[in-house]
Amino acid sequence: MALRHLSVKALLFFGLCLVGRRGFASAPELREPPKKIAIIGGGIGGTAAAFFLRQEFGPAVKIEVFEAGTVGGRLATENIGGYEYETGGSIIHPLNLHMKHFVDRLGLSPRADVSSKLAIFDGKELTFEESDWFIVNVIRMLWRYGFNFIRMHMWVEGILDKFMRIYQYQQFGYSFSSVEKLLHAMGGDGFLSLVNQTLEETMLAEGFSQVFLNDVVTPVTRVNYGQSVRINGFVGAIALAGADSGLWAVDGGNKMVCSGLLYHSKAELIPARVTAISMKTRPSKTGSAANFYEVNYVGESGAAHSTYDIVVVATPLHQGMSDINFSGFSPPIPTHFPGRFHQTVATLVHGLLNVSYLGTTVKPEDFYVSDVLTLDNKACEIHSLSSLNPVKIPKGYSRSAASQQKVWKIFSPQPLSQKNLQEIFLSWDSVSERRWLAYPSYSPPHRRTPPFILHDRLYYLNAVEWAASAMEMSAISARNLALLAHHRWYEQTAKIDQEDLHTRLRGEL
Ligand SMILES: Cc1cc2nc3c(=O)[nH]c(=O)nc-3n(C[C@H](O)[C@H](O)[C@H](O)COP(=O)(O)OP(=O)(O)OC[C@H]3O[C@@H](n4cnc5c(N)ncnc54)[C@H](O)[C@@H]3O)c2cc1C
Repeated sequence: MALRHLSVKALLFFGLCLVGRRGFASAPELREPPKKIAIIGGGIGGTAAAFFLRQEFGPAVKIEVFEAGTVGGRLATENIGGYEYETGGSIIHPLNLHMKHFVDRLGLSPRADVSSKLAIFDGKELTFEESDWFIVNVIRMLWRYGFNFIRMHMWVEGILDKFMRIYQYQQFGYSFSSVEKLLHAMGGDGFLSLVNQTLEETMLAEGFSQVFLNDVVTPVTRVNYGQSVRINGFVGAIALAGADSGLWAVDGGNKMVCSGLLYHSKAELIPARVTAISMKTRPSKTGSAANFYEVNYVGESGAAHSTYDIVVVATPLHQGMSDINFSGFSPPIPTHFPGRFHQTVATLVHGLLNVSYLGTTVKPEDFYVSDVLTLDNKACEIHSLSSLNPVKIPKGYSRSAASQQKVWKIFSPQPLSQKNLQEIFLSWDSVSERRWLAYPSYSPPHRRTPPFILHDRLYYLNAVEWAASAMEMSAISARNLALLAHHRWYEQTAKIDQEDLHTRLRGEL
């Protein structure tokens, strides 16, 4: 069964590489293509949108990407002692086919694998420490949690199988006008229910034990989303998939995918902050009125504006995130959608770990744990503590013991105090802190997710983050919006919001 699924997934990936240019090849010529497209945001979402919009609309359209900060957005690195380390989005699932495809297409490669070892900390001591022996881990898990662990893998695998359907739909050019419709096409009512109830409710209803949720699932949601098992079931399943084997990252840094996509799409980067988008009307050649979008921005040389046929907003429209004013729209578009983004502080410390902080009696020279996850417990002020590898692995590099000075990354909801640092480390020679508004604060039951379509030809990519925030989710949304923008431009309604695609396309692979 698993093998059969794997081969379908392999076929999908192969298909994705071959049929990447589908839209461009089949674009009808009845209407003139758009002349100018703006993308607001140069993270993985915005740069993937540039890549896919180029595929859909061809070489003539001018694509401009506005970026207020650094290309990569939440994919970022920090230099410590001459080496770069990931501070934002760091791991990619082996079945994230868009990310795989980008890396392949851009001539990048996955980072060399360095072995890792996991432990769970309750604020006083380690409640679990992974053994180097696979069989020992299995026996321990069976002993403590019965079949919960194996069933969890099967449950996540079942969700992933449905999730993978999106690649087939996109390969055949289908797009969706809302997050709900996209989720429904992948996993039917089951996926909509997942978004509308907590992971805890979902897993308890599936028969998982509360102890298993507290001891095993919570540490995973804390490290991956900085939140408890009260996040929605869909993002919870994505978090659990993030604890699978075979996770990877990009050699040289994940943000290289963004600069690569920007270059490959021949989009122009405009280093400026967009302040407003308004709708304007002007007479067209035929005498009728034509609508277009005016984008106002502030760059190094001051304030300016440009006009576009299509605009994609590829940054969260939430308090403290983007601050874009929309004017001239009916109904009005808010500057900020409801809901807030959750703070995760990433602190990178080059120092010597105090292993006794973890309540272990193992000598530092024998302590090889690389990733410490934590329980939802008042005594745990941190969400995780991980020994980091540089984004480019030097030759001969291997996981070192805690007796060696190295780079550790701590995720915490609040900045670490001097006291925290003194408890966790014996000594350090550098500390750098990055405060992220990392992901939505997920609190189901859900209000409706924000729309993909803000106005006729104005699209919102990050609406998808309210189902789940991850690099691949932004890439999926980018492909969806490129297809949607194309089909709406050329009025190809048969490729939008089709029901029952899974059954209809079953015979196509
Ligand atoms: C600490 C952390 C760890 C994570 N770990 C993982 C992980 O392991 N795996 C994973 O898949 N995902 C992870 N994620 C999530 C992942 O990084 C994000 O989902 C993804 O990078 C979002 O990409 P994006 O392009 O949609 O948004 P962003 O990366 O936020 O890009 C938006 C861009 O828009 C720019 N911008 C904002 N406002 C304006 C404006 N007004 N004008 C012009 N430009 C503007 C910003 O500067 C930014 O560059 C993590 C995130 C964080 C913060």
